[in-house]
Order: sequence, then structure tokens, then C-alpha cells
Amino acid sequence: MGQDSTRAFVTMKFLCLCLLLCFYYPAFCLGQTRTTPCARCVQWNRPQKPFRIWGNTFYVGPHGLSSILITSDHGHVLIDGALPESAKQIAANIQSLGFRIADVKLILNSHVHFDHAGGIAELQRMSGARVEASEWSAKVLSHGGVGKGDPQFAGGTPIPPVANVQRFRDGEQIRVGEIVITAHLTPGHTPGGTTWTWKSCEGAACRNMVYADSLAPISSDGFRFSSSSDYPHALPEFEKSFTFLETVPCDILITTHPEASSLWDRLQSRDKGLTPDPLVNLSACRELARQARASLRDRLAEEHVQGEHHSK
Ligand SMILES: [Zn+2]
Repeated sequence: MGQDSTRAFVTMKFLCLCLLLCFYYPAFCLGQTRTTPCARCVQWNRPQKPFRIWGNTFYVGPHGLSSILITSDHGHVLIDGALPESAKQIAANIQSLGFRIADVKLILNSHVHFDHAGGIAELQRMSGARVEASEWSAKVLSHGGVGKGDPQFAGGTPIPPVANVQRFRDGEQIRVGEIVITAHLTPGHTPGGTTWTWKSCEGAACRNMVYADSLAPISSDGFRFSSSSDYPHALPEFEKSFTFLETVPCDILITTHPEASSLWDRLQSRDKGLTPDPLVNLSACRELARQARASLRDRLAEEHVQGEHHSK
């Protein structure tokens, strides 16, 4: 073969390989990062136009997983990074609002499951931000994977490890520029779960913002919230979290899965011009606590019945 035909042959082989890769791994052709093997992930990761929630608080996540940006003139805070494949979308949303990803100085998390912490490693690489987490969550973030003691430990989807994770204490106030955000440990869904509170103002109208962590008693098969040697304090910890939600000053509630606090319905009503602002609901946190209490009660009843069944 001449030099030209050899080159043509090599090019042809390369194209065939690409086509094959495209067929089996569509993400390869689209230049995307590897997608998470999860039935609901594509739905969760549907693009969402970012928008202002109140004052300096913005929604920048994909449609099904919250990611919240709090801005200031001297650096921004980002809470939650959704899935690994959501990171680029979150960064693009931040940019389309007119902010720079490099100005994100702090990344925080609700809990270390792949659908809320999966994108943090990549977002940290893009921004250079420091990452802070509760003691338990920091260990999981640093090592990656799924944390021991997590009700979803068995068969849970691992998260990519995050570099240089710093720790905070329960009730600690963390500052970035003019932002003061407070960490409240609300365990139960995971042992390291954290709810975040801060104030956002529009002129003189300042609102108590609450980004509430998941409080759903969801587990892998075989785990019992009523008796687990890996998570022995699950029930009193849930109780502490419910009490917190019932008593925290809460004007605008945002949840890790936006539909858990009817965010899209509230937003639609606001866009229609309804007053008072449907995003503001002073009883939303108490209602969330009521629902979570009921779910745990149902779950414990199920575990009780299964226990009786096994002992027969
Ligand atoms: Zn979770």
C-alpha cells in the first residue's frame, strides 16, 4: 500500500472505532462525562433555566435535583452538586446568570448521596472552591464511595472523592464575603445530613431561607431503622431533625429534590403574578416535618410487621 492509502486505511479504522464507541457509549460522542447508572438520573438531570429564588439566592441545579447559589460581591456559596454529569450544567447555569464559577469560594452539601454530592468533585475542580462538610459526611466525601452507617450503604452508588474537605460543627456559622450561612445537623436519612439556613434580602424584605436536607427513611434491602448496629442512633437522630424543622424560622423552604416542597408549582403560581409570593410559606418547614414523621412511622410499622413475620 502507498503512503496515502495507508493513511486512508488508518483513518477508516479510526472512524469505525468511533462509530462503534458512539453506538455503545453515546456519552463518548457527545463529549460528556460518564453518566450515572440510575433509572431516574436522566429525568433528574433534565436541563433547567436558572432563576432567582429571593434576593441573592438562585436555583442553578438541573430540573430534578437542587443546587443553590448564594451570591455576594466578595465570593459565592454553592450548596449541592447533584450528579457527576450535572456539574457542567450547574457551572453553565451560574455563568448564564452573569456570575463566574471562579467566584464560588465555598461548596456545601446536604448529604453524601450520589444525587446531591456526585458533582461536587468536578465543581471544586472548576471553581477552586473549598468544600466543608459535617464530620461524618467529610469522611465519605474524602474517600468517595458510600459511607458505612448509611441506610443505603449496601448497593449504594459511589460518589467521586473530593480533595481537602474541611469540617464544621453543628450550629457553626460560615462566612463568605457578606454571606453568613449556618450549618444544622439533621441526620436520619444519613448520619451526616445537614440543613442550611441564611438570610436573603430584596430591599428591606429579608427572608429566612432554609435548605432542608432529605428526611426520608429510605434504605437498602435488609436495613432496619429500628435496629441497626451500623446506625444505632437513627431514631433519636431523626427525632432531633424533626424538632429542628418544626422550630426553625422558615420563610422560604427549598428541598434537595425540588418537588418535595412543590417548588415548580410555587414557581408557576409566582410567574402568574399571584400574591403574596407563593414561594414564601411560613408553615412549609413544619409541614415537611409532619410528612417526614408520618413516613418514618409507616416505615417502623412495616419493620415491626416484618420482624413478627420473621420470628414466626
Ligand atoms: Zn439521599
